[in-house]
Amino acid sequence: MEIQEWRFRRQLVLVPLPLQGHLNPMLQLGAILHSKGFSITIAHTHFNSPNPSDHPNFIFLPLSVGFSSFTPFRDDFIAFLSILNTNFETPLRELLTQMIQKQGQDDKLPCIIYDGLMYCVAEITQSLKLPGIVLRTSCAANLLAYYAFPGLRNEGYLPVQDSSLLNIVPGFHPLRFKDLPAHSFSLDVMLQLMATLRDTGSSSAIIWNTMDFLEESSLEQIQKQFQIPVFPIGPMHKIVTAASTSLQEEETSCVKWLDRQSQNTVIYISLGSVVIIDAEELGEISWGLAKSNQPFLWVVRPGSIQGSNWIELLPEGFREAIGERGCIIKWAPQKEVLAHAAVGGFWSHCGWNSTLESISEGVPMICRPCFGDQRVVARYVIHVWRVGLALENKLEKGEIERTIRSLMVDREGEEMRQRAMDLKEMAQLSINKGGSCYNSLNELVEFIASS
Ligand code: UDP
Repeated sequence: MEIQEWRFRRQLVLVPLPLQGHLNPMLQLGAILHSKGFSITIAHTHFNSPNPSDHPNFIFLPLSVGFSSFTPFRDDFIAFLSILNTNFETPLRELLTQMIQKQGQDDKLPCIIYDGLMYCVAEITQSLKLPGIVLRTSCAANLLAYYAFPGLRNEGYLPVQDSSLLNIVPGFHPLRFKDLPAHSFSLDVMLQLMATLRDTGSSSAIIWNTMDFLEESSLEQIQKQFQIPVFPIGPMHKIVTAASTSLQEEETSCVKWLDRQSQNTVIYISLGSVVIIDAEELGEISWGLAKSNQPFLWVVRPGSIQGSNWIELLPEGFREAIGERGCIIKWAPQKEVLAHAAVGGFWSHCGWNSTLESISEGVPMICRPCFGDQRVVARYVIHVWRVGLALENKLEKGEIERTIRSLMVDREGEEMRQRAMDLKEMAQLSINKGGSCYNSLNELVEFIASS
């Protein structure tokens, strides 16, 4: 009881990166730690800000960074990170300084939990002598792939030659050179990113939205490399029922459409909150879906098709060809969709949240990674966990049709669905009392309480 009361006074300041795939796990973590008795403050940017009324238990402190919107893509991601971190540092430092000044004599200093890409926070926590913990929002294997980069460059493996794209990266099995984030970003961009990521080592611990049984060897390597406690507590969205964390309105009406479909027949398609495709790819996807004869639920995010606002560029005759068999929406209640009995497959860009959400519901995947960590994740989904098929080449309707049918109708897909169901069960066991994530979360709570 004493510890519980004491924890309740302990303030945690959470600093998310203002992008959907980073906000989601940070808000989920906030909900988990609030349920453990901590008081939660979210220090966030004015733009892409979460809706405070969805989270009445949190205090929200918006800070101005001098720009009101930005959707980074590929190479300009680093420019975005750099401006964001530069502009966020002063307001956050002022905020934390004020918080410390207002504290009572007996109060413990606030503990700061920050997204690994909000690297300006490391400097602030050190100078204000505050405990700082990093939240990593992608898989552990991805961080190792980033850290491999300088060594590979020194050994002459980078920039990657076309002839070695399919070769395994020495010491990084099962990753091939084409799976490395270095392949989708330019060399300069990678160098800059490495310079920012090195700060992870200055935090006092790392929280991971992942599970031991999925990434045991990568987590062990990270533990060895950083020599600080590592807490794999995911899949966080399954630990507490958090309120909606969507920045866009969810079209819940699609669940009614799903209710009318048979079990495991629907392929759900979403490429996350950042990926953009062109009109030609849109055409190939459309006809691939039409020819597959499978029911589909397709999220086309407004602005995600180059040169159009929404679905104006859908090919002529497509709507008539699919009739009631397809449902196209702007933004889905994704976790609910993946948990729906009608959904039997997920065509994804392999963002880490989407992948964890799919695995946690036993839904096998079609992997169409685009950039950054997505190729690393796809490689693990396909070759290690064996719950996904690759769509790697230039999108072509015939290949799309065959891949969808392999996943949804053929024996190969059925076997993957079985393996995905096994992973779902293991994920549930890991968060149940006594499971590895359950234990890791309890250790994290004690770690924060004593830091
Ligand atoms: N998401 C959603 N509705 C959609 C598409 C995506 O709620 O229609 C959520 C999804 O559940 C996930 C997040 O947006 O939690 C996307 O994160 P992810 O890491 O998968 O990809 P990113 O958007 O960062 O590329």
